[in-house]
Amino acid sequence: MSETPRYSIVAPIYNEEGNIDLLYARISEVMDSTNEPWELILVNDGSRDRSAEMMDVLAANDPRVKTIHFARNFGHQTAVTAGIDFTSGDAVVLIDADLQDPPEVILELIERWKAGYHVVYAVRKKRAGESWFKRITAKLFYRMIYRITDVDIPVDTGDFRLMDRAVVDVLRAMREHNRFIRGMTSWIGFKQTGVLYERDKRHAGETKYTLSKMVRFAMDAITSFSYFPLQIMIYVSFTLGFLAVLAIPVVAILRLALGDGFFGGQATTIVLLLLLSAFQLFFLFFLGQYVARIYDEARARPLYVVADTHGFTKSQRDELPGGVVVVTHSAAKLNHDQVPAHEHEMEIQKE
Ligand code: UDP
Ligand code: MG
Repeated sequence: MSETPRYSIVAPIYNEEGNIDLLYARISEVMDSTNEPWELILVNDGSRDRSAEMMDVLAANDPRVKTIHFARNFGHQTAVTAGIDFTSGDAVVLIDADLQDPPEVILELIERWKAGYHVVYAVRKKRAGESWFKRITAKLFYRMIYRITDVDIPVDTGDFRLMDRAVVDVLRAMREHNRFIRGMTSWIGFKQTGVLYERDKRHAGETKYTLSKMVRFAMDAITSFSYFPLQIMIYVSFTLGFLAVLAIPVVAILRLALGDGFFGGQATTIVLLLLLSAFQLFFLFFLGQYVARIYDEARARPLYVVADTHGFTKSQRDELPGGVVVVTHSAAKLNHDQVPAHEHEMEIQKE
């Protein structure tokens, strides 16, 4: 029972009560067929539904299931990070909890890993049951990231992947706050390959990626792996400067030839002013995105706060990388039944 797992499966959970039991059933069926020891690490990212209890019931009935409960919602990439931090397998598999990534594909990932690859990522060849908005934005996003980043981040590839312990150890040493995990794994290197799969539709519930989370995620991806927005400023500056040099004689000649009416009014000035301000603010926004992320690093807060864990040994909890707070004693007894996370909101009121 206490044998070290060969495979660690990590699934982030944010309000997935309709998926947890089936996720466990399908993963255990697939993983049992390998005839090797495995563990399933479920990370509760501040769920407000019954996910927390359901996870702990699974952990109580099967010692291979281990759970981590965050003190609040820290976001998908952070939840995956915590899961990775707690793993002990030779190979780590990241998978979404909504069964969009079919667990059966894990066997193909394992096969490629055994053939000698350190990272085996799953590439989506079809996306079922997602809105056209999601499909188009995702397609554009992956292609843009591919173009402007310095590392080769494969297109149409999410976090569904297998990583060798060597890669996981490097990843565990990368403690940046704004995390784009698929980019970070590409950055690490070693031998990487992909397998194609068909992305299913969500089994139950709705997407947990709100538009604002998607925008944040895209900004993290860009700022983590590219200086492109900073570098294009110089081209815009050259272009505008060049236009200005051209405009001086043109305006002068038109004015001399056609009289005071040309470029005499304020309208042109106002329009140009608005246009240039828009350009400047656009770049200032990007600059701000980088500055804010520098500030995140300078503050050096923990990446996440763990309120509770189940199924890990003390030495596993002690071996965590830096930048993590795991609460082991709390005066208010944690009871997911009695105090749902959202009651915090009522307590936090302005005086
Ligand atoms: N998720 C999370 N925290 C969040 C948002 C999402 O842990 O703040 C989890 C979610 O429970 C799921 C995975 O991340 O297991 C992917 O989320 P989702 O399916 O909503 O994203 P989509 O597939 O629509 O991009
Ligand atoms: Mg999903």
